[in-house]
Amino acid sequence: MPLASHLIARLAGAAALAALLLGGYFLLRDQLPVDRDRVFRVGYGSLPPAMTVSADGQPDGPVPEGIREAAANLGLSLEWVPVNGSPEEALSGGSIDLWPLLNERPKFTGQIHFSAPYLRLAYWVITRDDAPLPPNWKGLRIARVRGGQARTWSERIAPGATAVEAPTQVAAFDAFCRGEADAALVAEGMSDGVLSAKPPSCGDRRIGLHTHPDWLLLFGIAANRADRQAVRAAERLREEFGRMTRSGRFASITFNWGLVTSSQLFTISEYLESGRRTRELWYGMVMLGLVCLLLAWQTLRLRRARQAAECANRAKSAFLANMSHEIRTPMNGVLGMADLLRQTSLTVEQRELATTISESGEALLELLNEILDLAKVEAGKLELRLAPVSLSAQLHEVERLFRARALEKGLRLRLGELPEDPLLVLADELRLRQILVNLVSNAVKFTDQGEVTIDLKIERKAPHQLTALFSITDTGIGISPADQDRLFEVFTQAEDKGASTRGGSGLGLAISRRLAELMGGYVTLRSRLGEGSTFIVSIPFLRSAAAKSTAAKPAPSGSASARVLVVEDNPVNRRVLELMLKKLGCETTLVNSGEEALAITTSRAFDLILMDWQMPGMDGIATARALQQRWTESERVPIIAITANAMQGDREICLAAGMADYLTKPVDLVSLSAAIERWAPTSALPARHPR
Ligand code: ADP
Repeated sequence: MPLASHLIARLAGAAALAALLLGGYFLLRDQLPVDRDRVFRVGYGSLPPAMTVSADGQPDGPVPEGIREAAANLGLSLEWVPVNGSPEEALSGGSIDLWPLLNERPKFTGQIHFSAPYLRLAYWVITRDDAPLPPNWKGLRIARVRGGQARTWSERIAPGATAVEAPTQVAAFDAFCRGEADAALVAEGMSDGVLSAKPPSCGDRRIGLHTHPDWLLLFGIAANRADRQAVRAAERLREEFGRMTRSGRFASITFNWGLVTSSQLFTISEYLESGRRTRELWYGMVMLGLVCLLLAWQTLRLRRARQAAECANRAKSAFLANMSHEIRTPMNGVLGMADLLRQTSLTVEQRELATTISESGEALLELLNEILDLAKVEAGKLELRLAPVSLSAQLHEVERLFRARALEKGLRLRLGELPEDPLLVLADELRLRQILVNLVSNAVKFTDQGEVTIDLKIERKAPHQLTALFSITDTGIGISPADQDRLFEVFTQAEDKGASTRGGSGLGLAISRRLAELMGGYVTLRSRLGEGSTFIVSIPFLRSAAAKSTAAKPAPSGSASARVLVVEDNPVNRRVLELMLKKLGCETTLVNSGEEALAITTSRAFDLILMDWQMPGMDGIATARALQQRWTESERVPIIAITANAMQGDREICLAAGMADYLTKPVDLVSLSAAIERWAPTSALPARHPR
């Protein structure tokens, strides 16, 4: 992943975490414990009937009593401080820490912290005969309690009305019923009994009751916002009020002071609870959103990382393809020349040297093929080419391949009883053989006496499905339990396998297992050190009814010796091909570019063209295409690509360009002879070159 996006990912993660922590802190900071050693200064004044001042200047009434009890329950120490001016100023000025009864006003929220409310005061205006509220109060009379809040509210609700003052709310209501006023202002909540009944003076007359959301006051505990401890104390006291409300204790206190508050206290408590739940829900939703965002972000990062990994893997495959190409080209020269050298008359010593060159080259090529196979399987580039394959024929062939080597070592190579024949399945013949050859080759290699047995068991799954269980058993050196687990890893060999069995890359088992897995199967191993091993390959196959397909062969050209055009830019390879073709009795023409090939084919006829793929200027593919376009049906000459490319899809590219076949470098005499025999058969060709 690029550095910048990595950095952004880190930053985003850190920011999300910081937001979570900060959000959590702001949500929970007021839940932190309160300092028990501190004495909180609580202001008081006259706010009847919730709070009054006694004759000796002490706080009195239901709210101070409630606060005292709540503080005692919490273990908080309080000091009551009389306040003459406004409580807001006393709080923001710092002369008191708490005020027990204040309704929230937006103007002060910057300096004052308001706890959730615990008391409610709703003003009602009562009128006669369900009449609506008068639009204009001029000349009308309104009955109300004398002074204080009631006066402020009557001026706000009924501006211009004449006040008829009464000592209590009941008296004010009564004055209205008796016709001394056109309306009455009473407060629900901190009433003095007015809610219990209509005064008898109203008789049976119907009355109108008016209220408004703006006439509702909610009182909580106020604290100096700058003082975190005071804020926490206010919150704890409010919580305690909540508990006292739910247990009925607070209603009992207010009742003793002549206030009926139980129902409204419960309403407030429910209201607060629902508010708390709403807040929690919001917090939960925000957190969930954040988590979802983080998840989405992580998914994106993962996807990008995977893309980067896939890109790296593709680069690795491309690198391997290039490497194999680069190594195969010079190997073509080495092996080809050594091969030709061995055909000349040599002394015994020279022949030995030439043979060593050939064998070492072939071993190197085998290793190269194994590495390439492994890279292809791991890059997911290896595709199976399914065709009808006879399983029994496969096993016979593998047995035939190792018969001589087993004989040489004095081993018995046995093919178990094979199931009914022909067992045709859809399989990749080459890859299946690769697995079996690997395992049988190991069995022969790691066994010095006794026998190697190849067996096949068939388990039928459905009419068209079967599972083949190949088992390769030897009486060889065996594998220790510790090694058994590791051997399927790449480049691993058993710790001690005896001097006679050195060599090998440690890739064979890893490739076999991966190939079996690619076919939907697996390889297992049973072995005892010193007694021998059994490798079992289990692979599911689809049965095939079709006979093995054989490609249509071109008509024989009938010429005495094949006329072959070689198009190759590398002088060494050109020379190798020239010598090999000479050996095969062909009439050879050499050119070193695609352009020259196009030119020469206008004037001369050939039976076969061997075309190198990678050439400067016009490459083999482009040349083949150009030739195909020029030729009429009768002029067509088979073109065989010669390529060091051996990656997936190369064959398809060659065929798509109109080529008949392709040979991979290094080209040896046998495969060259087979290709010529197939595409330009002539009577003059010598028999297969023995190797
Ligand atoms: P290579 O044979 O090329 O070293 P393999 O992957 O085919 O690589 O095998 C890995 C190792 O497993 C061998 O080197 C050998 O130690 C052990 N091994 C494989 N087959 C057998 C066997 N049939 N008996 C004993 N040891 C075996």
